This record gives sequence, structure tokens and C-alpha cells, in this order.
Amino acid sequence: MKKRFSLLAVALTALILCLSCNSKPKIQVADDESIVYFCKDITPENILKLYEALGVKQEGNIGLKVHFGEEGNQNFLNPELLRPLVEKVHPTFVETNVLYVSKRRFTDSHIALAKEHGFTFAPIDILDSEDELVYPAEGLKHFDKVKTGSHFANYDAYIIYSHFKGHGSAGFGGAIKNIAMGFASPGGKMAQHAEAFPSCRNANSCVGCNRCVQQCPAGAITITDEGPVIDTSKCIGCAKCIAECPLKIFKPGESASEEVFLERLVEYAKVLSEKKPMVYINVMDNISKSCDCSGKAPAPFMEKVGAVASTDIVAIEMACHQLTALKWGSEDAFKDVNGISGLGQVEYAHKLGMGNKKFVLVDVVTGERISLKDAVK
Ligand code: SF4
Ligand code: SF4
Repeated sequence: MKKRFSLLAVALTALILCLSCNSKPKIQVADDESIVYFCKDITPENILKLYEALGVKQEGNIGLKVHFGEEGNQNFLNPELLRPLVEKVHPTFVETNVLYVSKRRFTDSHIALAKEHGFTFAPIDILDSEDELVYPAEGLKHFDKVKTGSHFANYDAYIIYSHFKGHGSAGFGGAIKNIAMGFASPGGKMAQHAEAFPSCRNANSCVGCNRCVQQCPAGAITITDEGPVIDTSKCIGCAKCIAECPLKIFKPGESASEEVFLERLVEYAKVLSEKKPMVYINVMDNISKSCDCSGKAPAPFMEKVGAVASTDIVAIEMACHQLTALKWGSEDAFKDVNGISGLGQVEYAHKLGMGNKKFVLVDVVTGERISLKDAVK
């Protein structure tokens, strides 16, 4: 009798396990498709759900790549959205200093601004606060090396958390741009933005403090009676002079063309995303035509489309591009608003083998497939 009872118990347990397996059938995708998890309600709980749905076990020192928002910018994502994720994963907020004149140009004032903007519940690490790290790159059109902050190497894995919004030169900024420009050292940023070397403005205002000469690693600067002169046969484009001069005499060289700029972004993102395991979360809210580096960004032209997560950087960017287009009611919201599509980022990333353009959208709350049309209703 006892034996019959235990057999029955085993059978029942197996049945329950089987039923619970079947209650959420695994989403099947083709080889050239990737899953993009979606939530319509952008809440802290759903951001954590998106991360957990990816089923990726990230261990060790985890960097959470965010954007702290320029001083005066009103569109950057509310950091509180990240609180449950931070409490669960215990990451470090990571960023790099920017090239232009702002509090985010120098580490101390950058961290102070981040805290003012509410990023107070995890440690903050400015990856290029000490030095630059150069990775060799092979087989790319524009770069044979990429330059990031030296602390980039200190992390075992990254969560790339991106505000999907417009950008004046890239059309839109999402995960690709967040890695490419967001992880680049000043020299790396300049290499993507500009052609060749810095140039000088108001050179004759130079006070001869020699800081640029002392900091130039290539010995490329001479101070003359007319101000600083850069020897372009020596300059390595590190941009240290731009950061060092107290009078802001140096500025990045002429900007690259649109197509070249997009390709450069993708190449930086490719090299860096291959160095460390990364997962991606994009949030489509407060979508202005300008990015969060703008101190006076125009008001959003689109709000609350939703948030997405994927392990495929191409699929997540494509999903965001299509969802925002559908919500906007045209083929390309960013082409309409900025005059630049930005889709070239996705096309080039796909061409470089970084991921699938095709994706299956899965509602992270129900666990079921959801159409783009239903997602933006
Ligand atoms: S960019 Fe770097 S190498 Fe070139 S002049 Fe400035 S400090 Fe020197
Ligand atoms: S850092 Fe600026 S002010 Fe000082 S010597 Fe160089 S160019 Fe002149």
C-alpha cells in the first residue's frame, strides 16, 4: 500500500512539473531571428523583468552603462527605473568623460552631476578617469584600433542600458551609440566624430601655460608667438590637448560625413562588445530629436513607447526603430524629425555580423509573442 502511494506521488509530481513546463512554451525562433523582450509600461519592476527574461547569468564585477544626463537636460531617464535591477545585480554605474566643455568633461564634476541627477544608489566609475586602453581591431573599414577608458577592463560583464532617442548626427542613439561613444576615451570619441586632428580657435589668446605641451603624449605641440601649433605628422589624435587647455583653444577637427560617422560608431561598438559579455536594455520614452548630451534638448516628440531587452544588439536597435516608426505613423520617425534615419547603424552592424535584423517581440509580462502593432496600441 505504502509502495503504491509513493508511486502515485512520483507520478503526480511528474505531471505537475510537466504541466508547469508546458504552461509557458519556449518561444521558437528561426536561425536568422532573435528574441526581443518588450514591456509597454516602463516601470522599475518591468526593467528588472526584462533583464531577468534574458536568462543570462552575469557574475563578478558588473558594469551598468548609463547616461547621467547633461546639466540642464530634462529628457534623460529617471535613475529610479534602475533601482530594483541595481538591488538585484549590484552593478557599478559606468560612464566616460565627454570631449566638449561641460561638467561631464572632468571626472569629479561628472560624478557630482550624476549624483545631483539621482544616480546615488550604486558606486560610480568614470572609466577613463585614469588612463586610456587601446584594443587592436582587424578587418574594419575605418579603424585598426579602438580607444576606451582603462577601467573598461575591470569589469567581467556589462549591462548596456540605453535611452533610445534622437541624435543630431546619428539619427538615433541606442545601444550601438551608447557603447561606441559612451565607452570611448576622449581620443576615441574624437576618432569617431572628426577627421584627423584637433584644430585651434583664438590661438593668439594662449597664455603659454604649457599644459598642452606637457600632456601631449606625441610631442606634437609647440607654443609660438601666435599660439600653439600642432605638428600633424606626430599627432595621434588622443584629444588630451582639448581636455587640458584651460582656455579651450583646441577643438576637434571637421566632422565626418553622416555615413562614415555611422560606420565608425558601429565599428567601435563591434570591437568593444566582443571584448566583454554584454546584454542590452533600451528604453523608449521622452524621445527628443536631440540626445541627453544636450543641455537644452528640444521637448520630446514621442513618449512612452515601451522598453525592450535582448542579447542581440542588432535586433534590439531594429525593434526600437520599427516600434518608434509605427508609433509615429511613418516609415522612419528619425528621418522625419532629424533628417537622418540612423538605420545605417543597424544595416552596417548586421553586415559586420553583429546580430540579426529579424526579431520576435515577446511581451515580458505575459511571456507571449506580441505584434508590433499591438505593442504600440
Ligand atoms: S590630439 Fe593628442 S597627440 Fe594630438 S596634439 Fe593633441 S595632445 Fe598631442
Ligand atoms: S594649454 Fe592652452 S593656454 Fe596653455 S599653452 Fe597650451 S594652448 Fe596655450
